[in-house]
Order: sequence, then structure tokens, then C-alpha cells
Amino acid sequence: MFEKILIANRGEIALRVIRACREMGIKSVAVHSTADADAMHVRMADESVCIGPNSSTDSYLSVPAIVSACEITGAEAIHPGYGFLSENAAFVQVLEDHAITFIGPTAEHIRIMGDKITAKETAKALGIPVVPGSEGGVPDVATALTVAAQIGYPVIIKATAGGGGRGMKVAKDAAELEVAFRTARSEAKAAFGNDEVYMEKYLQTPRHIEIQVFGDGKGRAVHLGERDCSLQRRHQKVFEEAPGPVITPEQRARIGKICADAVAKIGYSGAGTIEFLFENGEFFFIEMNTRLQVEHPVTEAIFGVDLVREQIRVAAGLPMSFTQDDLVINGHAIEVRINAEKLPEFAPRPGKVKVFHAPGGLGVRMDSALYGGYTIPPYYDSLIGKLIVHGRDRPEALARLNRALGELIIDGVETTIPLFHQLLADPDIEAGAYNIHWLEKWLAKTYG
Ligand code: ADP
Repeated sequence: MFEKILIANRGEIALRVIRACREMGIKSVAVHSTADADAMHVRMADESVCIGPNSSTDSYLSVPAIVSACEITGAEAIHPGYGFLSENAAFVQVLEDHAITFIGPTAEHIRIMGDKITAKETAKALGIPVVPGSEGGVPDVATALTVAAQIGYPVIIKATAGGGGRGMKVAKDAAELEVAFRTARSEAKAAFGNDEVYMEKYLQTPRHIEIQVFGDGKGRAVHLGERDCSLQRRHQKVFEEAPGPVITPEQRARIGKICADAVAKIGYSGAGTIEFLFENGEFFFIEMNTRLQVEHPVTEAIFGVDLVREQIRVAAGLPMSFTQDDLVINGHAIEVRINAEKLPEFAPRPGKVKVFHAPGGLGVRMDSALYGGYTIPPYYDSLIGKLIVHGRDRPEALARLNRALGELIIDGVETTIPLFHQLLADPDIEAGAYNIHWLEKWLAKTYG
């Protein structure tokens, strides 16, 4: 087992990894920008290294600075968290060359899944059902029109290098397609430095269902069921639950096995998430994330496993500590993402937190790097906490979420907490009757 791990991240996810390290008797090294000198992850880790100025390009994304921090502290492995360098194949390649262990899959697997066209082709070849669409990239408007005529409108144009819900354009007819195609290409070029786009049938009322997979890198793999992440704003998740309110045990077992078999076949190592759109009882692959997800705690809650501990074990060459048969669902879990943002426009509002009081009690988990007196810097993501609740069933989890939200106090900055109070009062949320468009419609109706 490793003696020391460096965490190439900040905020709640850095704490999440430090906690797993401490329970495993592993020393942790925090890295931070100058803006984060007083951050909680720096205080909680055994050691810390300043790796650069405020801008993440010069700190959390600086490969030379992070590799040097590893060498200075003698850390043998790096946990990347999510975001930043977590899906950067070039970074993983550099670590492989420096004999530093990356806690995650190989550079090769990251590369395959990071390019959405290659990912989709690979998924298809592995027997995973995909959304009908173009065979690979779409080079020009003429091809786009031909593809659309075959699959039928509406269609969605997506950037092959896309991520974070950006670079997608929907067209409902040929006239819209011409404009959408050109816009998508120029936006993809500007955002990702790669203007390659592809096309898919635009599904009208799907749910976003993702399967958690885990591989040991030696050809064994399991699935840990699904998460329903359909409540999205601008293609970004805000509320996630497990199990999915409309997924049957048969559907779960079938798609779960397809996913576990697929990652076993490629010798995948560590945690991964295979994302699907789910409509009329059918699953359609959209992408695979080769890292720990923000919403992993709902899966941990219902299966009673520690996914970060498992990632560390597998990276150290140990076997997984569970088999498929050990993984039995217990109850229901929900996560809400709390951002330092002003409603109704969701405008980022960093600033000084005067009071922070985390909820507690049975079945409540608060993952946050806040503390009273902390100043949230303006340079990074506005996620400031995740509240996760676990109950024996969905109604109990909802009641617990309501109760825990009532106990949570964050004073000094505006947050998205009021959104969740309002959502919980909606009968559709109570019934689990929502799809990927529900929240946008609800926001338009509620906030105008
Ligand atoms: P990203 O990597 O940017 O998150 P994804 O491919 O995972 O992009 O898609 C993000 C979200 O966009 C999905 O959860 C869904 O809401 C929407 N979306 C993507 N593809 C389609 C599609 N073919 N039809 C309808 N909605 C889609």
C-alpha cells in the first residue's frame, strides 16, 4: 500500500480523498494556489505545497508544478478528484514516465473515452446500446443534412471534445440545422480548440441514467447500479438519486451487466461512469467518465462502500474488496449540489462565509470544505457543498432531505439552498416524475 498520496484538487473532493487516506493510514499531501492558502483541504492534509498563483491554469492544472510537489514530498501516487486533470491523458502519461501512480485508469482508456466519437464507437463495439446518429464526425453541412434525413429531426450536434454540458446545439428542421451546425463548430473550436462535431437523434423526454462501474485493471469488473441525474440546468446536474425512481431490478441487472462486461473486457481500472439517456424503457449511451463523479456519494450510501478507498486499493495493485454478489442495494439516497450563486439567475457570488452549520443526524452526510470565517475565492467552481441523505426508501430520503436542509446554515453568501426547499414542495419531485427538461421548464415557470 502507498505511504503517501498527493491530492491534485481542492474543495470538498480534496477533503473526501484526505478522509479516505486517513482511514487507511496513508499520509496525505494537499496542493494549493495562493488564493487557497487558508482552504480547508490545506488544513486537513498532513502536508501542503503551494503550486502557483490564483488562476487554475497556473496551479491546479499545472503538470510541472504538481509533479514537482510529488517529488518534493515523496508522494508515490496522485488522486486527481474530478475536474482539473482527472481526465487528462497527457498528465497521466507524464506520471507514468515519472513512475508516479495515477489513481485512475490508464492514459489509453482516458484518451479513448475523452474523444466522444471514439468513445461511442468503442461502446458500440463492446455491445453497449448507443443513441442513433452519425458514423463518426460530420465534416460539413451537406453531410449533416443527409444524416438528419436518415435519423429524423430533431437532432443534436455535439462537440467530440465537449464536456461540462457545453458545445451542444439542437435543430428541429433543415433550416435550423444549417445555422446550428456552423455555430456548434465555431463554439467547439473556441471552447475546446477542436472543431470536430458529430450528430445524434435528439431525444425529447429522456431521463439521464448513469451506471457506476468499477474494474480492477486485470479483467474483473462490477457495476454498482444506476444514479438518476435528470434534474439538470444547462445540462449540468443539480440533484441526483440512487436507485433511479423508474428503473426496475430487471433493467438494472441487464444494463449493469452489459456495462460491467464491457469494462472488464478492456481491462479498465478503477471507478468509471457510463452515462445513458433512458426513454421508453431503452438505454442509449452518451458518454463515459473515467473518474470519480461529483455524485458518487449516493452510490456509496446505498451500497455501503467507500469508492475512494477502493480506487486507492486497486491503484496499489490490490483486488477489489467486493464482488458483484456482495453489492446489494439498501434503501434510497439523494444528493443536492449547493452552489454559491444568487437565484434566480444562478450568478456566482463568492465571498466571506460568516456562519456555517452543517446538518447532522441519522442518514445525513455533508461534504463541504466551508468553515465560518472562510472566504470563497472567485477563481474556481461555485460548488460549495453536497448534502447527501440516505433513508430506507425514497419517501424517507425525501423527508430526511427536507429536515436536513432546514438545519443547514450558510450565512454571508447567497446559495442555491432555497431552490431545493422549493423543489421538495413540488408534487413531480415527490413522485419522481421528471426528465432532463423538467427543471428548465420549472425554472422558467417559477422564476420567470
Ligand atoms: P457533457 O460531456 O458536456 O456533459 P453529454 O454528452 O454527457 O455532454 O450530455 C450532457 C447532457 O446533454 C445530457 O445529460 C442530456 O441532458 C443532454 N443530451 C446529450 N445528448 C442528448 C441527446 N441525444 N438527446 C437529448 N439530450 C441530450
